[in-house]
Amino acid sequence: MRVPMAYPDTGLQIGGAWIAAEARDAIPVVNPATGEVIGAVAKATIEDLDRALSAAARGFPAWRAVSAFDRGRILRRAADLLRERAESIARLMTLEQGKPLREARVETLSAADTLDWFAEEGRRAYGRVIPARAEGVVQIVMREPVGPVAAFTPWNFPINQAVRKVAAALCVGCAVILKGPEDTPASCAELVRALLDAGVPGDAIGLLYGDPAAISGHLIPAPEIAKISFTGSTAVGKDLAALAGRHMKRVTMELGGHAPVIVCADADIERAVEILAANKFRNAGQVCVAPTRILVERPVYDVFVDRFAARAAAITVGDGLNEGVQMGPLIHERRRLAVEKLIADAEAAGGRIATGGGRPNNRGFFLAPTILTDVPTTARIQNEEPFGPVATIATFSDLDEAIEEANRLPFGLAAYAYTRSARTASRLSTGIICGMLGINHHGLGLPETPFGGVGDSGYGSEGGPEALEGYLATKFISTTF
Ligand code: NAD
Repeated sequence: MRVPMAYPDTGLQIGGAWIAAEARDAIPVVNPATGEVIGAVAKATIEDLDRALSAAARGFPAWRAVSAFDRGRILRRAADLLRERAESIARLMTLEQGKPLREARVETLSAADTLDWFAEEGRRAYGRVIPARAEGVVQIVMREPVGPVAAFTPWNFPINQAVRKVAAALCVGCAVILKGPEDTPASCAELVRALLDAGVPGDAIGLLYGDPAAISGHLIPAPEIAKISFTGSTAVGKDLAALAGRHMKRVTMELGGHAPVIVCADADIERAVEILAANKFRNAGQVCVAPTRILVERPVYDVFVDRFAARAAAITVGDGLNEGVQMGPLIHERRRLAVEKLIADAEAAGGRIATGGGRPNNRGFFLAPTILTDVPTTARIQNEEPFGPVATIATFSDLDEAIEEANRLPFGLAAYAYTRSARTASRLSTGIICGMLGINHHGLGLPETPFGGVGDSGYGSEGGPEALEGYLATKFISTTF
């Protein structure tokens, strides 16, 4: 038996004051496990956007003037608050997003780790001194915060997609206006609440919800905004990057992927199946670095398909609040229909369903873990990011052929490989075009490691010291007396 719990309506946060959902047009929030409306989120007006811009313009010089040491202390306090509140935040996230409670807990706690890491890294935004050519000249490179940031984050990781941008921006002294995900507003708002409670001034962290295109269309050209950071689909990312380009704004784009996996005959197949299944179906496959195109070397293909399909079929699908559930629903009916269309198109093109394909529940937006084989590379699913609990498995007989297939698409976010050969690992490391490569495991996404893509997957990094680069401008000062 699970205890029913209240779900709060979510407001906007501008200049330190919360504007309640009732005070604005409200957008309904749906529990994807039941399809029922559980609450509402406020829809920002144009006046709200202008007030958020003014607040950020005020907040930037004030927050920048706080020392890096003190900014770090405040961010670490916010991390502690997230840890204290993790249980209740995780429940909100599961209610609005659908992921199992265990995954929501891990997400909330890892957001605290991200805040801790950036709290320290902000103290290391070093400049340098360059030896001069003439006596008496001093040449200094300073790193300065770029200015107010407009950050746009999606619903798949309501806290973690936001914290990567917000922590990197705040730790170096930028103010941020966060446009959070309307599908999953309450848990994202809890991140902002923790930052405010820890001492980040209200002017330095705004939170907006509403019509995404109207908000980005207003904020990106605004003179107050110096930097844009977006996580979402490649199609939207290209539009926003084009708009930012017209207004000469700096941009970080974390966009879609279609991660290839190369499983060689010399790999530990049991381990590959275990790790791939866990990562394929985490968050119902709605993960930009999820493994999606699995390529298996001919001699181990049959055994891999059998074991992977059996492992997928054994996954317990259900309401993420229930004990023992391993995979929840998709975020909304639109996403489920989009994935179902890709599966139907693959079947029409000659693909075979090894497991799944159906809807396991009568209500909610559930889709069974699905494995497709024999899908031609011309089928839509071999070209478009599935962003759901479905993967294709194909075979290869030569490593060069596998690398060519891995590199066939314009995406270049994550890629994975399984092999016991150091030589093969080395060939794959240089041969695969991507931003992140996991060999024999999926160790991606830590605060201290780079996170980002190439090609249609975007540019800029959301992890490691590289993440700070996106929020820093370089100033060169040459002095003589
Ligand atoms: P979508 O492209 O409509 O929305 C994705 C996100 O972008 C949402 O948070 C949305 O609010 C935001 N968005 C959309 N249009 C915008 C605009 N004009 N200005 C500012 N923000 C905007 O897609 P969806 O149906 O919600 O999600 C499906 C697709 O989104 C997937 O195929 C996937 O490629 C992509 N996606 C990627 C990630 C990621 O982690 N890279 C996360 C979520 C969604």
